[in-house]
Amino acid sequence: MQADFQGLAASSGWAIGTAHVLAAHALVVQHVMIDAAQVLAEQDKLRVAIAATLDELAALRQSLAHEKHAEITAFIEVHELMLRDPVLVDETLTYIARHQVNAAWALSDQVQTLAATFTAMDDAYLRERAFDVQQVGERVLQHLNRINGDVITANSPLPATAKSDDLVLVCRDLAPSDFVRWQQANVCGLVTEVGGVSSHTAIVARSQGLPAALAVVGATQHIVDGDTVVVDGGTGRVWVNPDTVTLKALYEAIRHWRSTQQASLAALALPALTACGKKVTFLANIETPDDLPSVARAHLDGVGLMRSEFLFMGREHLPSEEEQTDAYTAVVKALSGKPAIIRTLDVGADKLLNSAHGNVVAASPNPALGLRAVRYSLANTDLFLTQLQALLRAAAHGPVHVLLPMIATAGEILVCKALVLQAQGVLKARDVAFGDVQIGIMVEIPAAAIAINTLLPLVDFCSIGTNDLIQYTLAIDRTDGQVAYLYDPLHPALTQLIGQVIRACDAAGKHVSVCGEMAGDAAMTHHLLGLGLRSFSLSAGQAGAVKAAVRTWHEIPS
Ligand code: PEP
Ligand code: MG
Repeated sequence: MQADFQGLAASSGWAIGTAHVLAAHALVVQHVMIDAAQVLAEQDKLRVAIAATLDELAALRQSLAHEKHAEITAFIEVHELMLRDPVLVDETLTYIARHQVNAAWALSDQVQTLAATFTAMDDAYLRERAFDVQQVGERVLQHLNRINGDVITANSPLPATAKSDDLVLVCRDLAPSDFVRWQQANVCGLVTEVGGVSSHTAIVARSQGLPAALAVVGATQHIVDGDTVVVDGGTGRVWVNPDTVTLKALYEAIRHWRSTQQASLAALALPALTACGKKVTFLANIETPDDLPSVARAHLDGVGLMRSEFLFMGREHLPSEEEQTDAYTAVVKALSGKPAIIRTLDVGADKLLNSAHGNVVAASPNPALGLRAVRYSLANTDLFLTQLQALLRAAAHGPVHVLLPMIATAGEILVCKALVLQAQGVLKARDVAFGDVQIGIMVEIPAAAIAINTLLPLVDFCSIGTNDLIQYTLAIDRTDGQVAYLYDPLHPALTQLIGQVIRACDAAGKHVSVCGEMAGDAAMTHHLLGLGLRSFSLSAGQAGAVKAAVRTWHEIPS
């Protein structure tokens, strides 16, 4: 069949290959009523299946020591946690006893209930956890069904056809652990029927550089094994058996994309100079120390933004001073003297702590304008002091620059600096080694950009957070798809604000970089260079394309 589909753009890049369709789960859930005498045996069956699933996931995780798999390993851990969660396990055991049904029936009902709870959540990230619950449930069901034989698991040999051609996998969903199985094959693209851009499937696809279109409705029904499939992961378009004219045009697009990719990779090793010889600094945006190897591979000049909240999110207990010290020190040591700009906790709005720690944020009537980022830290000074102490201790091993998010007033900076002094006092009293830190601010609230000259005397450096600066300047919720069309980095108001902050920092002799997504978008590079920017903080994967753009820029003499 010849057709084309529109899905979600989940992981950019082009793929052309032969379809390999994974059945939309050959998982037959048997529905059997049992009597009271069978309840214990059925509950045992569930425990055995869960234990076998946990063993399988642990073995898989241990086989992935390589750093390239850090993301997959983390998500396998999430699935392991779910399998130990009483809401899934105990409730299913109770369900078996209460309704006197077999384990598979109880489990599939419980999984559907949990998935529906996640789907109904306001937070986009949590909504997409519904897919994880289903993936975990399906894996346990496979074990429960195993007695009926013939169930594909992550360790089953691949079908012979899967080893030859370039394959585009077409499936309902692909669990992070299943990515590993398919890495043995020549998989060049992925099409799924469910998932969102921040689902784990999408995140893993991006981390593996696998072009992917998700949420392609009916993909497993309309595409069959052996079809020629073309995926444009940058737009989410999928073509099936395109006619020769279309195929020719698609080949052209793929050829162009491949040559751009090669130019970007080649640019990584070249000097970071504009065509007119101006030096440009390239810093990395990272979330955890796991991202450090990619920073080294991309030849970057340091870390321009470590989003420290990723050490805090999705956990029951907040990281201790020791744990934070270890994480920040790992970054500092890996950079061997290059600067590490570490941002203090930026939670609130779309980045929430576990509800046990985040009540105050969750209760905010308008979270993006509420107790977010530095406001949250200043309302929770114990937590803030712990983080500052850990940052100061890491500074004993190399240059640490502390970046304060969402600063609006000079008063906030002064209070933060007083807390840094207090943290130093605590460490001195405990006789713990620490180093000096520079203090900088995120310029991401229009008031800070407009009044930049009142803030600059108080700080050592600035980082312009264009993601929030655009959101707050244009009054567009950055997570609301309905107004996404208004999210315009080239709006004249933004040009004016960014340009004015860069000029003010230059005049004051203070380092300024841009660390929002604009810095990683090669289409914006000449615009930012024209505004005077000489320091870009971006994901390592974006550095090649931006550096290639930098190298073609020529300043127009004024
Ligand atoms: C920004 O706002 O541009 C930024 C880098 O911060 P975050 O995206 O983490 O809010
Ligand atoms: Mg921000």
